[in-house]
Amino acid sequence: MRLRNKPWADDFMRENNHVVVEEPFSKKDKWNDEFKEDQPLHLEIGSGKGAFISGMGKQHPEVNFIGIERVKSVIVGALRKVLDADVSNVRLLNVDASDLRDLFGDNEVDQIYLNFSDPWPKSRHEKRRLTFHTFLEQYEAVLKPNGQIVMKTDNQHLFEYSLMSFSQYGCKIEEVNLDLHGLEDPYNVMTEYEEKFSNKGQPIYRCRVRFPD
Ligand code: SAM
Repeated sequence: MRLRNKPWADDFMRENNHVVVEEPFSKKDKWNDEFKEDQPLHLEIGSGKGAFISGMGKQHPEVNFIGIERVKSVIVGALRKVLDADVSNVRLLNVDASDLRDLFGDNEVDQIYLNFSDPWPKSRHEKRRLTFHTFLEQYEAVLKPNGQIVMKTDNQHLFEYSLMSFSQYGCKIEEVNLDLHGLEDPYNVMTEYEEKFSNKGQPIYRCRVRFPD
């Protein structure tokens, strides 16, 4: 089925508004009221078709997850996976994460995942990279003290750029993994892009960073 012009997508999301949150900007500072359990809140920015957020929801019932994906034709794939996973601790937001401070209060978030973010390789598009310093300012505002960013990518240039950007911002880089799959982390939940690039034999990079106290 072609996804581009899909009139059913709005209905599908509305019918499942227990997963795809309507009017998410009104939930700022109240996200835990959205979930059954008051527990740590983890965000994924650019969830794509949802393999990671649905898999993490299943693996970690002790965490509440929010996946943000701006493309409607893509987020409906994530919605299907969340429904199939039959998890109650995952919500999806069909919005552009251009400024997380409009969606989340100060210190409301425990962890942020950046998985295979668009690399924006041209220098003139640097500001669009999700690890540009203006994005780091937003992440720092919404993350709890000691909150963590976990980034995975296949893109060496984006990875190197991001490590520089984190470092220049003063972040503490706690892990740099240049071959995530070489270690066979049994708890690693793969994304769609990760599976695709890994199957082609490309190394997957991961880092974990925290903001300064
Ligand atoms: N994370 C998924 C994976 O690893 O399979 C998808 C990776 S894909 C390269 C990047 C996704 O991020 C796209 O689906 C895109 O629409 C989404 N995205 C990029 N910038 C975004 C933003 N500012 N807000 C919400 N979604 C965004």
